[in-house]
Amino acid sequence: MIEMQNRAGSVIRLEGLVKKYRGKVAVDGISLSVPEGAIFGLLGENGAGKTTTISMLLGLVPPDAGRIEVMGMNPTRQGLEVRKRIGYVPEAPVLYDWMTVSEIGWFAAAFHLDEQGTTAGYQARYGELVRGFGLPMRQKIKTLSKGMRSKVSLSLALAADPPLLILDEPTSGLDVLVRREFLESMVDLAGAGRTVLLSSHQISEVERVASHVALVHQGRLILAEPLDELKARTFAVSVIFTSRDHPSIPPENRGLDLIDAAEGARQVRWLVSAKDRAACEQLRALPGVESLEIETPNLEEIYIGYMRRRRPELEPGLAVQVA
Ligand code: ATP
Repeated sequence: MIEMQNRAGSVIRLEGLVKKYRGKVAVDGISLSVPEGAIFGLLGENGAGKTTTISMLLGLVPPDAGRIEVMGMNPTRQGLEVRKRIGYVPEAPVLYDWMTVSEIGWFAAAFHLDEQGTTAGYQARYGELVRGFGLPMRQKIKTLSKGMRSKVSLSLALAADPPLLILDEPTSGLDVLVRREFLESMVDLAGAGRTVLLSSHQISEVERVASHVALVHQGRLILAEPLDELKARTFAVSVIFTSRDHPSIPPENRGLDLIDAAEGARQVRWLVSAKDRAACEQLRALPGVESLEIETPNLEEIYIGYMRRRRPELEPGLAVQVA
């Protein structure tokens, strides 16, 4: 099991979570925890099991095995209570098309009464968010663009002032400016002490905002850790050898774990997990090394490196050729 450090207390805890659809495994023993105040990026290719995991967190789909705890509750038994405390923005929000932007806020407010039993707090926050996003209050939902609909959906989720926000592919189909705006509001939220779980294919965006990342492949968790720790232990080592006769992978027992390798005639680029930079520096002593460069890869390179060796059609070194 991959355990995450739990300094601030966990908002979400998954232990050995399994879900099968007609015998086919969609989620295969995922264990992780999401600390309070994190922006937690859930990354994985299509069909990796991200949405299924989110559906289980929301209590919409029961797991076949394993444990789930969301804010101390069990979503399978306390689905309604859990959903009340989560702001959820699905990939394709279902909104009442015939309502206006203003009306849908008024309608949703009825489900979010404040302590005095009124809708005033929700409505005030919704109005503020909608104005902040520049949405036209009187326009019908059906006439809004995809980006505007997403903003309405986010406003509806945030107006409830939820301690946990779950976003499934929130920026897909949005233009770059709107995406940026969306992500900035996410950082603000985390700054305000909320926790955000974000499923996305936009790896560079996740890199910009996430405090933690988890990689999922075919229902299994490959890694889950703070992004700065992942980046601090991952190195891209480019080596030029004096001849074509060179090792295609780094020698073992040097405190390095190979994640991925790309090979050219005299060059290699090794993506490695290492204790520190010094562990990579010692590769300079390999026979025939002409030059060696160590870089910190970006999250996309790390993601591709971990994924490539798990996909038979993308053999190491075939998909990326070093010039
Ligand atoms: P994407 O990034 O494409 O949204 P994902 O990581 O969210 O993918 P899931 O939607 O969780 O992946 O799907 C995981 C697997 O479970 C896939 O093989 C999918 O076909 C299968 N699956 C998901 N929902 C159902 C369902 N209701 N019935 C049968 N199979 C399903």
